[in-house]
Amino acid sequence: MKRKRKLNQNNYYSAEADRQFFSVSQYKDFMKCEAMAMAKIRGEYKPEMTKAMLTGSFVDSYFEGTLDAFIKEHPAVFTRKQELRSEFKKANEIIARIQGDETFMRFMSGEKQRIMTFELFGLPWKMKMDSYLPGICITDLKVVQKFRTLPLWRYELQGAVYQKGVELVTGEHLPFYLAVATKERTIDLDIFQITQPVLDIALREIEQNIEHYARVKEGQEEPVYCGKCDYCKSVKDARIRNYSELLEG
Ligand SMILES: [Zn+2]
Repeated sequence: MKRKRKLNQNNYYSAEADRQFFSVSQYKDFMKCEAMAMAKIRGEYKPEMTKAMLTGSFVDSYFEGTLDAFIKEHPAVFTRKQELRSEFKKANEIIARIQGDETFMRFMSGEKQRIMTFELFGLPWKMKMDSYLPGICITDLKVVQKFRTLPLWRYELQGAVYQKGVELVTGEHLPFYLAVATKERTIDLDIFQITQPVLDIALREIEQNIEHYARVKEGQEEPVYCGKCDYCKSVKDARIRNYSELLEG
């Protein structure tokens, strides 16, 4: 195995780091579309951040203590009249709501953006934790539309890798929590524990899929094009199709 560069806050999201290490988000890219995941790794495809993602990162960077840098990087946070755009006003409201909640703040009181690298299933992985309380727990902050949509994002995959990563690096088996605030008109907030059986199943699922993804990543197997995602649409050739296909739903 090639010598791995040490990761820090500056190179964690670099193309080189993505080539060298698996991460939960790269794994999820492969789940969605192997061709898209590979295009991202090659640096050929960079999907733009959606408004929803930006609101989340605004809140994330506040708690990281990097909000100034975030605003510099995303001048679109402000309107031409130098007012906060509405989605970031909501982000500010969410920050204030979180800060007023003792339990939420306790879970967010750990070490911020702690990076760990480790070998899992024979492959190098990287991860970055929102709030790490050694000996106590791992917490990831999520800003979502509604609690109900949380499971759709498969956060148990993140929990499984983060828990295992901390265990491999420190020897400690810690519970994994999501600290969640919603963007609803009246903000809701709670701490959700992802229970051990759910984490165990998620880790097994990753174990079953990762070997194939690793072979694709190494160029030993051809990536599958899903044919439906934005990347696939952007590189496809037009086909001649039967109109009736569209009526079949
Ligand atoms: Zn695709």
